[in-house]
Amino acid sequence: MKTYTYNQLSDSEIESLCRRPKMDFGSVFGQVQPILDDIESNGDQAIREFTQKFDGVDPDPLVVDPNDILINLSDEIISALDRAMHNISKFHQRQISDDIEVETQTGVDCRRVSKPIEKVGVYVPGGTAPLPSTAMMLCIPAMIAGCKTIVLATPPGKDGAIPESVAYVAQKTGVSKIVKAGGAQAIAGMALGTESIPKVDKIFGPGNQYVTAAKMMLQNSEAMISIDMPAGPSEVLVIADETADPEFVAIDLLSQAEHGADSQAILVATKETDIPAISEALEKQLANLPRKEFASKAIENSFIVVVDHSRKAIQFSNRYAPEHLIINTKDADYLADKVTNAGSVFIGPWTPESMGDYASGTNHTLPTYGYARMYSGVSLSSFQKFITMQKISEKGLKDLGPTVETLAKLEGLDAHKQAVSLRLKKLSEK
Ligand code: NAD
Repeated sequence: MKTYTYNQLSDSEIESLCRRPKMDFGSVFGQVQPILDDIESNGDQAIREFTQKFDGVDPDPLVVDPNDILINLSDEIISALDRAMHNISKFHQRQISDDIEVETQTGVDCRRVSKPIEKVGVYVPGGTAPLPSTAMMLCIPAMIAGCKTIVLATPPGKDGAIPESVAYVAQKTGVSKIVKAGGAQAIAGMALGTESIPKVDKIFGPGNQYVTAAKMMLQNSEAMISIDMPAGPSEVLVIADETADPEFVAIDLLSQAEHGADSQAILVATKETDIPAISEALEKQLANLPRKEFASKAIENSFIVVVDHSRKAIQFSNRYAPEHLIINTKDADYLADKVTNAGSVFIGPWTPESMGDYASGTNHTLPTYGYARMYSGVSLSSFQKFITMQKISEKGLKDLGPTVETLAKLEGLDAHKQAVSLRLKKLSEK
């Protein structure tokens, strides 16, 4: 891994280290547009044909009720899924917030109430392995928020079935329908609606370039949907000092790198850190990984930044704004307090990112690509809308009305002013 010394870097060199590899969506948009058009015109039939083309199977029926899927998982898997769902539910339950009610001045009552987004779509990537964790992270908050319709789309396997572990999560979280399709065609089905797929209002979930492109294109279209957040390749930044176990640091970097060749795994180490031991551990661990091809490509693009002091490490990390931040230093709690930009933070030697990826309770759908500067990860509020309400008494109108008349006049909006003036006149005649 390429190594940089922080205090020898110019500001523009630091900036370029923080910049992610460019994502070129131009050609993908060109491939995805005809898929979206076809689904708009031909609905279910087009989704089945694209699934046949890209996944090698005709999903028939395309849409199933999760409760119709027979589950035959081992007790060990059921108990692991139940434990994870319990913790994720517990953490997201606590995010239920009270409605706000404020009398801003006498007779002027303002409220904010939360309501669930009625219909949501969650995408669970298929690809190489079943991803029940993504189903848990999206369906649990949707259920707690009270979304009436939860549509889950995931690509079918070669046998036309969807993974039982995903179906189990769907059953437990009240998913209304499962769409046995992936890619842009599944996103289009949920965004536009078809004969058998209900149109949803917001679409969540990670996926490959076709999935991401479809989400981006449909949110800017007449489909009138919103999406969870912009997506880029997954990333981790590990801060280590001389107290960090080199094997822990190495495996934490690799657990990100194994996601895909485009993953980013960055080490920011104090100058006392045993970097050669970390590199040696990484080589050894990499050689034994089943997904070593992906991981070694990702590691080729990764780098190390050596800092004089852990405070500089957090300075760099805040500028980079990583999706995942692991702080494995003696002053980890102190540094955690200094974090201003990160998707999720993992504190101390016993907190690998994997814990949050699966089962500790926090959500693993997080902003990548530097978007942690202005986006939050998925949470309960991602599945809610907040509606404001107000009620004004005669006294409230009498007291505040003249202020509004002045401001409306200032902006040249006479009907606005009159809406108050007419009422004030009626009140004065009473
Ligand atoms: P996927 O479900 O995203 O995509 C598979 C679908 O792509 C297939 O169903 C197919 O219909 C479609 N497709 C394949 N080739 C196509 C083509 N040439 N043209 C149009 N459509 C095509 O699964 P994946 O491909 O394995 O990708 C999963 C992605 O999700 C990875 O990038 C992974 O890093 C990401 N992921 C992220 C997280 C996270 O939380 N950040 C979690 C899990 C997965």
